[in-house]
Amino acid sequence: MIRYFLTALILFTGSVSAEQTLSIIKPDAVKGNNIGDILAHYEDGGLKIVALKMVQLTPEQAGQFYEVHKERPFFEELTTFMSSSPVVVVVLDGDKAISKNRELMGATDPKKATEGTIRWKYGNSIGENAVHGSDSEATAKEEIQFFFGPHEIH
Ligand code: GDP
Repeated sequence: MIRYFLTALILFTGSVSAEQTLSIIKPDAVKGNNIGDILAHYEDGGLKIVALKMVQLTPEQAGQFYEVHKERPFFEELTTFMSSSPVVVVVLDGDKAISKNRELMGATDPKKATEGTIRWKYGNSIGENAVHGSDSEATAKEEIQFFFGPHEIH
């Protein structure tokens, strides 16, 4: 009985702390041959890659993905950039994966990013900043579903 209780407790606490988040390796980083280095940042940072593919977005799909920014002055520039060449979409899994990935990425503007972060290393500008990462549990869920079906996540 106690053994069943402990097993259930471990499963329960394990499932509440484990999270999944979406990363996109953006066109600038794909063109710059930085895919492998960026994936190594995730793995070295303790996150597991549980789904991965290369995708060419249309401007419409990029607009749908970044719909939350559609009133912002940089929307057109952002969707043109995101559909300019292929991106790599990745599902990362781990303890506090959403905030962990945001830490590994660094600030939106690479000039303000902490030394050693992905954007500090590979970002060119506030627009062309190497990677995307989900910013909350709700967006992570939506963004993962935007690119992956349940059978594509391992
Ligand atoms: P993130 O969560 O750190 O990616 O930042 P945001 O959600 O605020 O913005 C989404 C993306 O829009 C950023 O990653 C940039 O690619 C782009 N972006 C944000 N602010 C600007 C800006 O002032 N100018 C341009 N050109 N692009 C921006």
